[in-house]
Amino acid sequence: MPGFELFGAKEKAQVNDVLNSGVLMRYGFNGVRKGHWKAKTLEKALEKRMKCGYAHVVSSGTAALTVAMASAGVSTGDEVIMPTFTFVATFEAILALGAVPIMVDVDDTLTLDPTAVAKAITKRTKVIMPVHMCGSMADLDALKVLCKKHSLLLIEDACQAIGGSYNGKPLGSYGDLGCFSFDYVKTITCGEGGAVITNNQDYYAHAEQYSDHGHDHIGKDRGAEAHPFLGYNYRISELNAAVGVAQLKRLDKFLDIQKYNYTVLRKALEKVPQITFRRVPKGGVENYSFLSFYMPTEDLAKKATEALAKAGVDGCFYWYDNNWHYHRKWEHLKDLKSLGYLPNKVYDQLPNYYKSDFSKSDHWVGRNISCLIKLGWSKSEVRKRAETMAGVLGAIDQ
Ligand SMILES: *Cc1c(COP(=O)(O)O)cnc(C)c1O
Repeated sequence: MPGFELFGAKEKAQVNDVLNSGVLMRYGFNGVRKGHWKAKTLEKALEKRMKCGYAHVVSSGTAALTVAMASAGVSTGDEVIMPTFTFVATFEAILALGAVPIMVDVDDTLTLDPTAVAKAITKRTKVIMPVHMCGSMADLDALKVLCKKHSLLLIEDACQAIGGSYNGKPLGSYGDLGCFSFDYVKTITCGEGGAVITNNQDYYAHAEQYSDHGHDHIGKDRGAEAHPFLGYNYRISELNAAVGVAQLKRLDKFLDIQKYNYTVLRKALEKVPQITFRRVPKGGVENYSFLSFYMPTEDLAKKATEALAKAGVDGCFYWYDNNWHYHRKWEHLKDLKSLGYLPNKVYDQLPNYYKSDFSKSDHWVGRNISCLIKLGWSKSEVRKRAETMAGVLGAIDQ
């Protein structure tokens, strides 16, 4: 997945444009910026690649989630349905708006289970937020049906799945809003950065203003701009955006490399009888940033993770025991350990997650191993890795 592996002359040339003009800010300074608008250029390129009406680039993926929800009016007491398997940014963004994270089971897609989502919808639900973890998507058609039926927003967290698609549409462009991260370990990177995409002009206008202190961006004098509503600062710098301009041009090449490496590993593992693979919903195409598979039991998955590490196969994650990505280690959320007080509605409405039954998620995540697909492997390294993995996993016994 990591675009940082292939950071080179093209990225440096883009950054040098910014350094040579000295204009590190994305707005204003028209006279001295020598025609370089890196954030704007990245936005136009994203709109084209993601086949969407509008893209707005921000300072991180977490900022993108926050801005996306804020731009669609998500606020205190609104419930946002999110998966038990995701990155902590999901609930951080929800809580930042005073909204309430409602955790829901994942299924064999390792993303939101539509049946569990349907059961979790209440009068206060405002958003369904699928997170396309490890390069593959939720069953978006089923979630869209629920959104239509209950007048909810579908907001896609596509931070780990940029370049994947569903029913021919780029991931992120299927919902009302979609979010990307360009942090240092994502498929393409800005160093730090993120983006919100949408086809809704109002959401775009809100996102663009909210992420820059509410500036209306009308006219040429920033100091004289009006502020139609309260905002915040989630701006990206031109230096970061410049890296992204170069990386986005390379996205499709990165995806080809990932697909090749993924396919070599997958073909080898398909020969191991006890392994099954993560389900990709019909109509979905992964971005191949991870190869995710299941062992027959939790115990065997633990043994397999250890054996892979011992055999020198790095980058294979057992998320079930991971501090960042699975609900079991989110005590800080469950106990609402905040530096200050959170909105009353969060205290009142947050379920007691210690009493929740997430055995369905545990059934899948407890048996899952996800292996990071790197861009920098040579063909012989991939072949060797495939052989080693198949050998190690085939030898794990009951
Ligand atoms: C990385 C990531 C984020 C947050 O992105 P940052 O740019 O690191 O803030 C959000 N959701 C998922 C699924 C991620 O992987």
